[in-house]
Amino acid sequence: MKLSTQLLIDGQFVTGDGQAEPILNPATGELIASVPEASFEQVNRAVNGAQRAFAQWSRTTPAQRSTLLLRLADAIERHAEEFAALESLNCGKPYLAVLNDELPAVVDCFRFFAGAARCLQGPLAGEYIEGHTSMIRRDPIGVVGSIAPWNYPLMMAAWKMAPVLAAGNTVVLKPSEQTPLTALRLAELASELFPRGVINIVCGRGESVGAPLVEHPLVEHPLVRMVSLTGDIATGQKILQSAARTMKRTHLELGGKAPVIIFDDADLEAVVAGIRTFGFYNAGQDCTAACRIYAQGKIYDKFVAAMTDAVASIKVGGPREEGVEMGPLISDRQRNRVASFVERAQSSGHVEVTAGGKIRPGNGFFFEPTLIAHARQEDEIVRREVFGPVVSVTRFSDAEQVVQWANDSDYGLASSVWTKDLSLASKVASHLQYGCTWINTHFMLTSEMPHGGMKMSGYGKDLSLYALEDYTVPRHIMLKL
Ligand code: NAD
Repeated sequence: MKLSTQLLIDGQFVTGDGQAEPILNPATGELIASVPEASFEQVNRAVNGAQRAFAQWSRTTPAQRSTLLLRLADAIERHAEEFAALESLNCGKPYLAVLNDELPAVVDCFRFFAGAARCLQGPLAGEYIEGHTSMIRRDPIGVVGSIAPWNYPLMMAAWKMAPVLAAGNTVVLKPSEQTPLTALRLAELASELFPRGVINIVCGRGESVGAPLVEHPLVEHPLVRMVSLTGDIATGQKILQSAARTMKRTHLELGGKAPVIIFDDADLEAVVAGIRTFGFYNAGQDCTAACRIYAQGKIYDKFVAAMTDAVASIKVGGPREEGVEMGPLISDRQRNRVASFVERAQSSGHVEVTAGGKIRPGNGFFFEPTLIAHARQEDEIVRREVFGPVVSVTRFSDAEQVVQWANDSDYGLASSVWTKDLSLASKVASHLQYGCTWINTHFMLTSEMPHGGMKMSGYGKDLSLYALEDYTVPRHIMLKL
């Protein structure tokens, strides 16, 4: 398989001048490639190139931008197997899951925003003051610096690039230093379609390449007008502080700890099948993972027993293994982090690890799918994001208590409610402080609907027309008649 390791800067493919970053195969621990990161000067060149390109790109019509986004979607679709192979190699994900779940979503994201570019709406033009006509424009913002995480590298690139470009902005995207390979291949396809400088991809670590995108201390004027990050809360806080200096707009998607509320009357089989999938997909490295279960008193024991069997039956293995459902974690560091969460939970004395709980011996960064029963609301395992294949279960008595517990969290990204009583489900959903609440399902995203958080999960929406609005500024034009 051909691996692209060059950065795309102002229309040129160049080797990074910075330190070489080792890219590992998480399923074996072996080195796949080395990607030299961008130097500070190269980041600047990317930003300057994006700024120059903005002058023309921001004046293209929505139809012109839409055409190019559709062509890019077609190109990704034509190379779907290659992208799936690269992504599963770099992340250790099951190959078929990437091909059948992630690639169609990536292609659809570009197609959705290609259409959405032509459908922005707003208030009517009119005379709101006598003798003066007012109208609203929604204009692009400028250069957007987009910083992505490692859990869904190509999908995050799509979420970050498609609305930005559709709205008429230019972009400098920094994928995670651990997972740059699909973004770099995407750069090759995109460079054949888009004008020079509209899309720039720079790789490297957060401190050396991400931070200069936000701070730009050596440049006199703040060329990057907006920064979007999907990542950790701590990273979001650093970015906010630096962005304050030049008043950059920010768009932050920061983690989650999704509560899953199971009432006594829920369909047990459906719940168990749902959590088996939605709690462990991508080895739980998902900000919406169904990881914080609250089960009501009467269903609790039955649920824990059935869920334990279901979790133990998840097939763990390398990306190409027959029937594999769950791969390794992204790195040894992440696996150790997950293992220490489980150890600390066990040391509390009152929880029971009913399935998994251990590092899988051998090569690769595997951790067993894990269920932790009898967790309490105040436990770290209930409160902090693990970002691994670990699901906790806590018993609750009534709706009022569980809504209070579910909302008693720093996070506010995703949640779900499982019951046959749809009136109860709607009432609970209306009281949850989460960007999304699913009823009798979890985890399902669609390009038309917004994805994003409340509280410390951040703000700004991915997907949907709301994302397109986030990457534009509403402007008032008034004409004196
Ligand atoms: P991370 O915050 O460590 O890294 C995210 C990105 O930020 C990387 O590209 C990294 O290089 C960059 N970065 C790090 N420090 C930086 C700095 N000082 N300045 C600029 N850039 C910097 O997060 P991660 O470990 O890659 O991803 C896991 C986290 O992302 C989890 O907390 C997860 O919940 C969150 N996440 C959230 C969503 C969502 O939609 N809300 C989706 C996926 C992942």
